[in-house]
Amino acid sequence: MHTILYFDVCSVPIFIMILITVFVRKMTKGMTNRFFIALITLSAIAAVSDVIMELSCRTLPLTDLRLVLATVFIYGYYFGRAVSIMLYFFFIFSITGTWYRVRAASVRMILMIPFAVHMLFYITNPFTGVIFTVTAENGYQRGPLIGIAYAFSMLYALAGTVYLLMCRKFLTREKIVSLVALYVLSMAGAIVQFFFPQFLLELISAALSFILVILFVLRPEEISDASVGSLSYSAYRNELKKILLTKQKTQVVSIRFINAYELRAYLGQEKYLAYIAHIIQQINLLFHKEGAYFDIYYEDPANIYIIIENKNYDVYDCVKRFYKEFTRKSEKGVSSSERVIPKVCRIVVPDDVNDFDEIIRIGHEFADQMPANTLYIEAPELIASKDYLVVSHMDQILNKAIQEHRFEMYYQPIYSFERGKFVSAEALIRLIDDEYGFVSPGLFIPAAEQKGVILPIGDFVLEDVHRFISENDLDALGLDYIEINLSVAQCLQEELPTKLELLGEKYGVSPDKINLEITETTYENIGNVMDINLQVLSGMGYTFLLDDYGTGYSNMQRVSRLPLKIVKLDKSLVDDMGSDDGMLIMRNTVKMMKDIDKELVAEGVETKEDLDQLKSMGCNFIQGFYFSKPLPAKDFVEFLKKHNSA
Ligand code: C2E
Ligand code: MG
Ligand code: MG
Repeated sequence: MHTILYFDVCSVPIFIMILITVFVRKMTKGMTNRFFIALITLSAIAAVSDVIMELSCRTLPLTDLRLVLATVFIYGYYFGRAVSIMLYFFFIFSITGTWYRVRAASVRMILMIPFAVHMLFYITNPFTGVIFTVTAENGYQRGPLIGIAYAFSMLYALAGTVYLLMCRKFLTREKIVSLVALYVLSMAGAIVQFFFPQFLLELISAALSFILVILFVLRPEEISDASVGSLSYSAYRNELKKILLTKQKTQVVSIRFINAYELRAYLGQEKYLAYIAHIIQQINLLFHKEGAYFDIYYEDPANIYIIIENKNYDVYDCVKRFYKEFTRKSEKGVSSSERVIPKVCRIVVPDDVNDFDEIIRIGHEFADQMPANTLYIEAPELIASKDYLVVSHMDQILNKAIQEHRFEMYYQPIYSFERGKFVSAEALIRLIDDEYGFVSPGLFIPAAEQKGVILPIGDFVLEDVHRFISENDLDALGLDYIEINLSVAQCLQEELPTKLELLGEKYGVSPDKINLEITETTYENIGNVMDINLQVLSGMGYTFLLDDYGTGYSNMQRVSRLPLKIVKLDKSLVDDMGSDDGMLIMRNTVKMMKDIDKELVAEGVETKEDLDQLKSMGCNFIQGFYFSKPLPAKDFVEFLKKHNSA
């Protein structure tokens, strides 16, 4: 009886092709992928062995050489098959994200007992011949207990599949179906081959079923982010869901690069990604050295997540090392001013937080909610902070504030060196919530922008400031105008000029009593529409001021082209005047601005020293706590009456 070899022969190139795809698609990282590679490799070994064995036994009796070949490769075949079936079993643990259940050596030992017994049969087979015999006269012959070899394989494959079905909620339906099909197909092949040994179907059916896995289960585009050599953000979300479902205690480390957007704009996407890839590589090395079980995920452009399975692994210590490495001079191809600034938050899941959306949100927002000069925070501390509470209830706070008209305008006086008195003021919005108290506009304005409720707030600001101007005689108070902050969304509104015109008429306020504050990012983001609005409003007589100069990447050329007379230097520039570098930067900034004919307001001035320095540099106006905090309208008017009349 001759066996039909074609099927097995066919399976060999299929296995090889699958292996090639695995490497070409970079599916080599992570435990699941590694199991898969081992699985394919062993199956390929089994297929090749089977073919060689069958070929050796084609003509009987066997020559000595053929006898050796047949014996060696029949063992290769049985061994490859037995191990690969066991790997399939572990592969299922890995792909369902429940590997931790077999992490303990004792558990793994127990799971391997059937495999060990199985192996015992093979090892003793040369003496007992119960599984098979290879002799010169008869070639390969099955033994009386050949069924045992099949039974053990069945045991693992069946257990793996039952386990898979128990964990079905961890995977998509498509993946479950493919993995069950993998089982059904390879079992069908094995059963046919058991009863009809002349058909070598087993390995071809396994090969076909692996194609299913490649197509539907291990999809690198879902999992890995080739641009930086890490896993992808969607893989992070999936992994997080699994962790929450299994309630397996895990550490989730969020790293946020707070200057990512600026840096990317500055370096360009390609160089930026190469830089991130380099950082990810460093994190990889560092955590490896420290013996963590971890995976790294990247969310473009500002976040890296590390999921660490060891619950006692000292993340803080590792982060400290990371910063040390990171702040070393001479980073590859990157100067110190072109570095990302990372902030780190550690969450122990599910102890600290057990809600998926909450963990995702923390990853995106923690950096804004942690104390300004800290770089590392643990979730419990973050959650206890007031900013965190406020931000996590922002929807509710904003809705209530808008419905119940809880906003109020405050005014912060602005001093002119030249005239020796207060000549204008910035209108700043305030929100007092009955539950959370004072809510900073630095928190709720960006939130309102994101949630799309900034326009009604902006409308309130415009109306309230117009009312203030109409009720108070600015001239008599010594003021030229009031400064109003405009948000991006307001600048984008085509009806902004009409809105202002109507308000002006309603309250009898002329445009020269208002100075509109825009920021560089505002201007950068919108370009054309803003150009038109700027032109129209300038034509109507409104003036503009550029706010927050010195944050982000300021571009003198762009500033010089903007139709505005005044530039406001950000508080961060003033704060930096404490250092020699900072002083130099301020001095040069003031000089350059003067050279292109801009007037300057310094914001956030708190000390007499800074005030004097700024005066000597030639700065025109000062706004800051040194003179006054923002005041409620009534107090502000009192303040002016007291200080401007003297
Ligand atoms: P901004 O426009 O740059 O406002 C200046 C901020 O610096 C204000 O914070 C002000 O209170 C603060 N400040 C001024 N002098 C000092 C000082 O000497 N020391 C310190 N520590 N801070 C000082 P505030 O009122 O919390 O506003 C934060 C941001 O919220 C504003 O930054 C602005 O971007 C936004 N914002 C405030 N009111 C409005 C508004 O009516 N509309 C819009 N669209 N945004 C607003
Ligand atoms: Mg402002
Ligand atoms: Mg500002």
